[in-house]
Amino acid sequence: MNNAYKVPFVDYPTHYHNIKKKIDTAIMDVLEGGDFILRHQLAEFEENIASFVGTKYAIGVNSGTDALLLSLLAAGISQGDEVITVAHTFVASVAVIVHSSAIAVLVDIGEDFNMDMAQLERVITLKTKAIMPVHLNGRLCDMEKLTGIAHKYGLLIIEDAAQSLGAEFNKQKAGSFGLTGCFSFYPAKVLGGIGDSGMVTTNNKEIADKIRLLRDHCVQRDTGELLGYGFNSRLDNLQAAILDVKLKYLPKWIERRREIAAMYEQGLTDIEQVRTPPAPANNQYYDVYTNYVIQAEQRDSLAKYLKREGVETIISWAKPMHLHENLELNFKLPKTEEISRKVISLPLNTEINNEQVAYVIKAIQEFYLGV
Ligand SMILES: *Cc1c(COP(=O)(O)O)cnc(C)c1O
Repeated sequence: MNNAYKVPFVDYPTHYHNIKKKIDTAIMDVLEGGDFILRHQLAEFEENIASFVGTKYAIGVNSGTDALLLSLLAAGISQGDEVITVAHTFVASVAVIVHSSAIAVLVDIGEDFNMDMAQLERVITLKTKAIMPVHLNGRLCDMEKLTGIAHKYGLLIIEDAAQSLGAEFNKQKAGSFGLTGCFSFYPAKVLGGIGDSGMVTTNNKEIADKIRLLRDHCVQRDTGELLGYGFNSRLDNLQAAILDVKLKYLPKWIERRREIAAMYEQGLTDIEQVRTPPAPANNQYYDVYTNYVIQAEQRDSLAKYLKREGVETIISWAKPMHLHENLELNFKLPKTEEISRKVISLPLNTEINNEQVAYVIKAIQEFYLGV
């Protein structure tokens, strides 16, 4: 482990070494076959993701960001349309709405860091075309309420499931509720590649066909006919081959993530200054804990203390997106702002052991309780 931290936030080299043989074989096969663009490895990975998520189709693209953008374009979102999402998310969720020429409407979040369904209905206007729920940190939004509201107003749902591959709500997987589900295989996600890539899932054949065209310059491969202006957003075949190997481990990795989350929950729940995220034991939600995010008093001092103790943490996001002046997002989101002052992500990856988790818990106890 070439990392200076006692408990690193991620540990890519160890992650690789644990499955090195299978990854190396997959890479060699791609190189030996010269299978670089749109080959059988990609088709197989797409099929496996579709069956894992529980949708009819899956289309590989070159990032989670493009999965979202191509979804909006394929759904016909255009100038003047309003798309509702949240500010407490990675900037890509909002950027793609702007890039599709639509207007981003941001709603506040609740204590689970996800869209507050009680506020959603209030921001719907005659111009609203779609809702983009962001299933943050590996937990779904309340999809019962959200689909109910979407149905009532005739709105499309584009799921930003970049952080929630494998997560469930009422036994149904993220990415299978909306018109499309959008995934990212950025290295730090639960299923991470060796660079950028993403995937769109859908049950709608017309949308699947459109996205397949859009990712490949809108060229009809058998006739050469150009059906419009598209993009170069194909998922590299090499990435697909590697990700397909890793997908087989994903259920086991998710179970380990949940085990660590349960340890954190048990160790931190009694600390008054800490608010833990929703616990793993729950009938309605199956969370995959892409991030383990607590709300902590004196957050910045805690972060410094943990760093000194050799615990690597990340703060996402200390400055809420709508307060970045250059983005020109004029919204009042008090809960988003309050939470941004308290959030801190603790190390949770499949490479750390129970002793390391216990070490983090002890360090946090020491910080607040001085024991
Ligand atoms: C990672 C992420 C994205 C973007 O995915 P990329 O593959 O990095 O483009 C979008 N939304 C959320 C919530 C993410 O976490």
